[in-house]
Amino acid sequence: MKVVRFAHLRNLRRRFVGLALVLCIAPIAQAALPRELRVPGGVALVKVGDAASPAPTASRDGAKLWVARRGGDWVAVVGIALSTTPGEQQISVETGGATSTQSFRVKAKSYPVQKLKLDRAMVDPPPEVMTRIERESSHLKLVRNTWRADAETSAAFIIPANGPLSSRFGVARVLNGQPRSPHAGLDVAVATGSTVIAPGDGIVVDTGDYYFCGKGLFVDHGSGLITMYCHLSEFIAKNGDRVKQGEPIARSGGTGRATGPHLHWSVFLNGVSVEPELFLPAKPQTAR
Ligand SMILES: [Zn+2]
Repeated sequence: MKVVRFAHLRNLRRRFVGLALVLCIAPIAQAALPRELRVPGGVALVKVGDAASPAPTASRDGAKLWVARRGGDWVAVVGIALSTTPGEQQISVETGGATSTQSFRVKAKSYPVQKLKLDRAMVDPPPEVMTRIERESSHLKLVRNTWRADAETSAAFIIPANGPLSSRFGVARVLNGQPRSPHAGLDVAVATGSTVIAPGDGIVVDTGDYYFCGKGLFVDHGSGLITMYCHLSEFIAKNGDRVKQGEPIARSGGTGRATGPHLHWSVFLNGVSVEPELFLPAKPQTAR
């Protein structure tokens, strides 16, 4: 009996040692990263260290950057603002107390122009709503820039609504003949009441009724990756809810500044709006 028990224990010990070895030599999980496109509105993956060393921290214009593992490297996943001037750009990297600078090049990209006719109040808001717009703008800026570090952050998104893409990211907009900020999201033409799903796992961090966005909802995916949904008719998930990829979060509509019902979807990285399609599975080039 005793012999059998010892053999059993030895077996267990062997299994434990085996498991510990597997855990030690198993590579650190590779994060699913967005596709790289070094243009205004794109994403740069900038090497900031060797994965054999602890992860450095990186920042750009004071905003902390997502640092993820790619192969044998640590890379900073840098969201490049649409307003970025093409040319040499820099990020700041901190390794073991020492700060250094890393450069990368941003190429020019010309986005198409779209002319729209909208209700005058939406293009030139009346003075009485300016206070509301300013208040909402600083609130939304805070939402875009508040995030938690999360080792599980994944950029492998699925599209949050199914429908034709009616306006692409980055399109230069001329509203009622006046040039305005470029389109900082992707529009999906869907009827009011269509289900909007979470493109990836995350936490709902804000819901509200905003002048331009209408009914809007934000999901924090961790590490500075935040998504926004505008013109909704109804919220399904509420503030603080943990959501899984594919889970319904809202219903689409035409609230706020919208010419008709559609979903406006924005993706933010380090506080700036970037091309959502870089987070979706690659499509054949003919789709563009
Ligand atoms: Zn839009």
